[in-house]
Amino acid sequence: MGKDKPSNFLFDIISSDLKSGKHAGRVLTRFPPEPNGYLHIGHAKAICLNFGLAESFGGKTNLRFDDTNPVTEKTEYVESIRNDISWLGFGWAGEYYTSDYFETLFSYAIQLIEKGLAYVDDSTPEEIASGKGTPTEAGLPSPYRNRGIAENLDLLQRMRKGEYKDGEKVLRAKIDMASPNMHLRDPIVYRIKHASHHRTGDEWCIYPMYDFAHGQSDSIEHITHSICTLEFEIHRPLYDWFIESLEIYPSQQYEFARLNLNYTVMSKRKLLELVEGNHVSGWDDPRMPTISGLRRRGYTPESIRHFCDMVGVARREHVIDIGQLEFAIREDLNIKAQRAMVVMDPIKLVIQNYPDGETESLQSENNPNAENKGGFRDLTFSKELWIERADFMETPSRKFHRLAPGQHVRLKSAFIVRCESFSKNEKGEISEVVCTYFPESKSGSDTSGIKAKGVIHWVSTMQAIPVEIRLYDRLFREEFPLKGTADFKESLNPDSLRIIERALAEPFLSQTRPGDHFQFLRTGYFCTDPDSVDGKPVFNRTVGLRDAWSRQQKQ
Ligand code: ATP
Ligand code: MG
Repeated sequence: MGKDKPSNFLFDIISSDLKSGKHAGRVLTRFPPEPNGYLHIGHAKAICLNFGLAESFGGKTNLRFDDTNPVTEKTEYVESIRNDISWLGFGWAGEYYTSDYFETLFSYAIQLIEKGLAYVDDSTPEEIASGKGTPTEAGLPSPYRNRGIAENLDLLQRMRKGEYKDGEKVLRAKIDMASPNMHLRDPIVYRIKHASHHRTGDEWCIYPMYDFAHGQSDSIEHITHSICTLEFEIHRPLYDWFIESLEIYPSQQYEFARLNLNYTVMSKRKLLELVEGNHVSGWDDPRMPTISGLRRRGYTPESIRHFCDMVGVARREHVIDIGQLEFAIREDLNIKAQRAMVVMDPIKLVIQNYPDGETESLQSENNPNAENKGGFRDLTFSKELWIERADFMETPSRKFHRLAPGQHVRLKSAFIVRCESFSKNEKGEISEVVCTYFPESKSGSDTSGIKAKGVIHWVSTMQAIPVEIRLYDRLFREEFPLKGTADFKESLNPDSLRIIERALAEPFLSQTRPGDHFQFLRTGYFCTDPDSVDGKPVFNRTVGLRDAWSRQQKQ
């Protein structure tokens, strides 16, 4: 991966900039998250793009925390963001905070005033909003628009000193109240907010607006290509206006279509609502589309990066099927995940012609699809085994090739058995299946001549260990949770988590660490959850072996 990235329009822009000598042959991008939540898969797309493009051209990428809103930002988020980017496999050149630039940004505001390009406005927020006009009607100039430079300078200093309350005054750029682009109708540059900031504490009570901070921060860092999502296209003239008016480094903004995925939501505000309403166990709940949630679910950095490469970069919004993300992780785990046998809903299988108390050691492949072959592990075979309840049928349908009275089946990596009889408990449930085994049918040296159409997994009752299994499904029932309902939480899937308290597993699974990946044969891909304790490992289902969801939808 990496080297053969498909080219895209951004790649082409940078190539031609390098050829023409723009930016003196340098490429410096940035990833600018606001630390107001955990990163999600959409951010992963932006990360892969910014870091990937820079890497392709021997350039670098800065990490910049866009922390201009004191109310929503937290150090916990800063740490999670750093951790997630590193985990994805990217290293940043410089780590910056927009709040580090507050003093410089303030001096830019003074420069604008001195150039007659900004003014302090005493209008109320409502007056400012209505004065903006509509896209088809010009706005009305504020009565404060023509304040003198000295008065503006004085008022701005007093705003900074805290002489006014929130909302009492703002600083606005003086551009064009009749511009067809609403963002150029004297946008607000500074607002008063008496709030403690996660880094600057109570040093400031005025904070720059996004548009005034972003481009200037790019410029301060000498970012060459500032890549953002399409909704900022309309802000670009303002981005350029500030840079030109201040005569600072000419960073340039480019836009691409954001990643949209079905069956989930991808806005930090909405995700925070799920966390705060206890609809999930936290930002890293394995059902969340956050990077930390995906990690806990069992996604690998490689699968996420591969997914981002697969979906590519576009200039037009579209929706990617979540099945594509699932495809990416299946593909990666197929070659990486250790195989194991785990019985989710056990019934006992007794081999009547196997000696009591005896055991034998069999070998099973760790991963037949691993690049360097995964070797073998030992399995213990014995007279009594656990098998899956669903692998036995009292009266089988024609296509049922597993255990049923008189039918043969192969026990994975072991022997062929034939079902002789079965018994039920007082509730009428199958409690035991009695079989005969064929010693000469051992996997790898089968001379029995017996045909078994099906293969099932099993564990020896003498060795099986109990494990907890968490079966995760999609968080939302609806393909587009935000469409149609007043509250997107009404579309939550009530069956998105099913817990199996006591599945029975091969004993080696007691030695597992959070983040280890497995394929539980015939069931799916799983990973060890950090909730695991000694004697009680917990496994999360990452994804099923096949795309069961879309098959189910088609029925
Ligand atoms: P959210 O609405 O989820 O909070 P945001 O855009 O407000 O997202 P930021 O922290 O401001 O979040 O985003 C940091 C960077 O990630 C920005 O450059 C933004 O454009 C990009 N980004 C956010 N969401 C997506 C997405 N779905 N697809 C691609 N890039 C995204
Ligand atoms: Mg944002």
